[in-house]
Amino acid sequence: MKKCVMYMIGIMFAGVCLFSGCTEQRELAQQQLAQGEEKDRYDSMIFAMDTVMNMTVYGEKGDAVLLEAEKEIQRLESLFSVTKENSEVAQLNARAGKESVPVSKETADLLLTGKALTKETENAFNITISPVVKAWGFTEETHVVPTQAKLDELMPLVDIEALSVEKDEQKAYLSKAGMAVDLGGIAKGYTTDHIMVLLREKGISSAVVSLGGNVATIGTKPDGSPWKVAVSNPLNTEDYVGMLEVKDSSVVTSGGYQRFFEENGKRYHHIINPLTGYPAESGLLSVTILSPDSTRADGLSTALFVMGEEKGLDFWRKNQNFEVIFITDDHRVVATKGAAEVFTFEKRDNDFTYEVVEK
Ligand code: ADP
Ligand code: MG
Repeated sequence: MKKCVMYMIGIMFAGVCLFSGCTEQRELAQQQLAQGEEKDRYDSMIFAMDTVMNMTVYGEKGDAVLLEAEKEIQRLESLFSVTKENSEVAQLNARAGKESVPVSKETADLLLTGKALTKETENAFNITISPVVKAWGFTEETHVVPTQAKLDELMPLVDIEALSVEKDEQKAYLSKAGMAVDLGGIAKGYTTDHIMVLLREKGISSAVVSLGGNVATIGTKPDGSPWKVAVSNPLNTEDYVGMLEVKDSSVVTSGGYQRFFEENGKRYHHIINPLTGYPAESGLLSVTILSPDSTRADGLSTALFVMGEEKGLDFWRKNQNFEVIFITDDHRVVATKGAAEVFTFEKRDNDFTYEVVEK
């Protein structure tokens, strides 16, 4: 059991702590193989969508299935990337204010889901935030604090109503010049859902994938025990605050600690509050969402990080199909009831405290 826990910690940390996680994972796989415990286990690790992606499947044809999954991830990346010039999203952005562009079924689907989530979260999550994310240099990793004048100029371009998507005709259009969409907040979740369908179709009944920290599982471990997913300590990503036991579910974490830069002693992270144009300062260090729907989990982890604990809990009370673990900047771990049922808080060498919230 201990090994399984360590292995999953390796996976969860992979998105943040690239190589130590992977070394740990490989060493462990070798140990397990040496002990003959892990028959028909196949692992894959690739770099895509600007992050490390790990997949583990069990089953006779696991290696061939993983190859297909890797190709599928690369195909989706070539559609959704904001930085790859030929991607459909880049084309949509380049033609903003001019004309509509043809899009694949998948891009149309993801744009529509992104638009729906933007409306549902009342803009806390907003896929038209791209010009502002770019101005902060998070798109090209050329970090800079933009002037207020620059932000004032860009904020009118954050406007979900100006995105139209015609699913049947497979066309999309941004009606204001200078507008752009950024699917970075949901693309990994969507890709995760897609890969889970592919794995199931190929007959895989035991698998765990972590696409840059978007974790999803199929079934249980081959020995029947549940998959374990560590929830990172945002103040020290080598550490964790507790462990989730998940079965056929997805777990996604968003946090300001995942991507940030410092200027004049102040830290600026990559999750932008679409109402202010500034990195969200909502009193949270991270938000972890559990949901069978990984796209939704991905969008909501970003949205609830922007909303903060109080508004996030209101949103949870009014909406279905997901559970939450907030980690606040005053070091409280706050789990909604459904999350608490599968979460074990661990009192480790840190000062985090734990509370559970009822609906
Ligand atoms: P990560 O990509 O690190 O897993 P998230 O899923 O929270 O983190 O997505 C953050 C990414 O989404 C940012 O890098 C940016 O591209 C984009 N983004 C930032 N703020 C928002 C927002 N309020 N709504 C939608 N997308 C956002
Ligand atoms: Mg997200």
